[in-house]
Amino acid sequence: MKVFKFGGASVRHADAVRNICHIIEQYPDETLVVVVSAMGKTTNALERLLALAHRGEALDPEWHALVEYHAQIVEDLFGEPREDLLDPWWKSLKERCAQAPSLPFNQAYDAIVSHGELISTHIIAAYLERREVSVAWSDAREYVHTDGVFRDGTVDWEETERNWKSLASDTSRRIIMTQGFIGSSPEGHPTTLGREGSDFSAAIIAACLDAESVTIWKDVPGILNADPKRFNETVQFDSLSYQEAAEMSYYGASVIHPKTIKPLATHRIPLYVRSFEDMSLPGTVIGDVEDISLPATYIVKDNQALIRFGLKEFTFVNEENLSRIFQVVDKLRIRIRMMQNSAISFSICIDNREDQVRSLLRELQSQFFISVHQSASLLTIKNYQEEDILRMKEGKEVLLEQKTERNFQMVYR
Ligand code: ASP
Ligand code: MG
Repeated sequence: MKVFKFGGASVRHADAVRNICHIIEQYPDETLVVVVSAMGKTTNALERLLALAHRGEALDPEWHALVEYHAQIVEDLFGEPREDLLDPWWKSLKERCAQAPSLPFNQAYDAIVSHGELISTHIIAAYLERREVSVAWSDAREYVHTDGVFRDGTVDWEETERNWKSLASDTSRRIIMTQGFIGSSPEGHPTTLGREGSDFSAAIIAACLDAESVTIWKDVPGILNADPKRFNETVQFDSLSYQEAAEMSYYGASVIHPKTIKPLATHRIPLYVRSFEDMSLPGTVIGDVEDISLPATYIVKDNQALIRFGLKEFTFVNEENLSRIFQVVDKLRIRIRMMQNSAISFSICIDNREDQVRSLLRELQSQFFISVHQSASLLTIKNYQEEDILRMKEGKEVLLEQKTERNFQMVYR
């Protein structure tokens, strides 16, 4: 059994959907679990819809655009509107939007935003069936169980494994199609695994079923040492160790979700990253390999916040005030991407999430002087040479930098 994962870009319009169906059809003798994200930029659109719904404001024109976008894809695929296909989902989404003002924001978020994946997989499964591919649509909320932390659910592995094993042994269909990114809480409320969490979903399912491999089909030919949209010269890795890939994603390489590697490494399941645009390309395999002479790898994260905590009295940064900061950071589930300590201040670089930055300030303002740079970027160079650093610093205002034997990091504007 193999697990395939298709992200939003691979299903962003009808031709893209035809293309991934074509890929699936190239594996007629395999049992597949196919994990799919929301179409195109639907998750962002749903986030905007949620913001309106939660404030109890009018949903149009967001609503209309969302419905139109999917209706267009359906009509293009089926040659007719097929309202029967999506109307139940629009009805359910409407209900969730109506409930939103009375729910905590994050709970409303998961209830609404999860519809992107539910709708995309529903369309694609129906279309595969029409192409006479034997497919079972499965609702990930029934099979991926998490705790009750909305927007950042932690997987209940035992329960989830039991669910997937029984689903896989029950179905007579060759393909199970399910949603990435979503699950449900012990109370049965929809939860999500964090933005871009569909890769992780694929890894979860693969681990539960001890799959032969996972393939993430992407709009790049494989894993590159830098984002080709930012860097002119890039090198593709033929293979990477689990360790190296995990570190890359830890530092923010967007090619794979950070939580994806661990379950695969634990089960020794290889992960292929391949191009959905050109199936003839070999891609990159992440697995039990030795990394030999890796080139410098550049990872840029935009939209970072650099937060500096200064002490209010003439004392030094000590374990006690550091632990106070960490407690709050942990409570707010903030991921620190880089940190640095001096005698009189402590700095952290985190994703610039409005809500988190605001809460952090609220909790710690009375004890520290806090300054915030909200439009910073973070560059990490793995396996660097000195000249790589000099070149990257050119023309940038460096706010903070740090070096270890293998990694260089700087926060800049
Ligand atoms: N649709 C979700 C997102 O855009 C999950 C994913 O694509 O992996 O964040
Ligand atoms: Mg996506």
